[in-house]
Amino acid sequence: LFITFEGGEGAGKSTQIARLAEHLRAGGDNVLVTREPGGSPGAEAVRHVILSGAAEPFGPAMEALLFAAARNDHVEQVIRQALKAGQMVLCDRYIDSSRVYQGVTGDLDPALMRAIEQAAINGLMPDMTIILDLPAEIGLQRANARRGEVAADRFERETIDLQRKRRDAYLAIASAEPERCKVVDADRPPDEIALDIAALSDQLKA
Ligand code: C5P
Repeated sequence: LFITFEGGEGAGKSTQIARLAEHLRAGGDNVLVTREPGGSPGAEAVRHVILSGAAEPFGPAMEALLFAAARNDHVEQVIRQALKAGQMVLCDRYIDSSRVYQGVTGDLDPALMRAIEQAAINGLMPDMTIILDLPAEIGLQRANARRGEVAADRFERETIDLQRKRRDAYLAIASAEPERCKVVDADRPPDEIALDIAALSDQLKA
């Protein structure tokens, strides 16, 4: 099974992916944890180009295509193989990040966005997508607190307005695809969130 994690800055994706991996491994599953942009050597190289700030002068279409190129490599080199080998794959960000981040900021033609998405994933949809949902103000506070430790990249120069739009865009995806997308309230203690996500994955496996 292929499970993706989505959410704005500070939503706690990495913590919750680690928790779910722990839960699944305890149950005997062979789990691969991976992330985007990146996850394969080629895609990590593209991640560096995009996040280093070198991409600042790139237009939105070029940026969307770069993310898609990285995703295609990650899908074909890593995710499909892992699934074929029977692993559970947990991925930090996937198509919904592109829909939300490139969609909200890039103002690209929706038909072009769909074409780019399909070219990238070639039909490999997640079995379940966990959307960690957080009020924009809280996400931004958490991201700002982290900024002291982690080198800020251009994507982390966030505004509250952008965070709000992204949250709305995630929630719109969830209501359009309720079977795949599960919205989890991320404004709670990590243990509580982890329990909910473990229950969702148990349901999916059943
Ligand atoms: O998940 P993480 O926060 O490490 O992602 C790195 C950055 O890449 C994020 O801050 C996000 O703003 C950006 N991103 C993006 N479009 C994607 C995926 C990630 O703008 N499709």
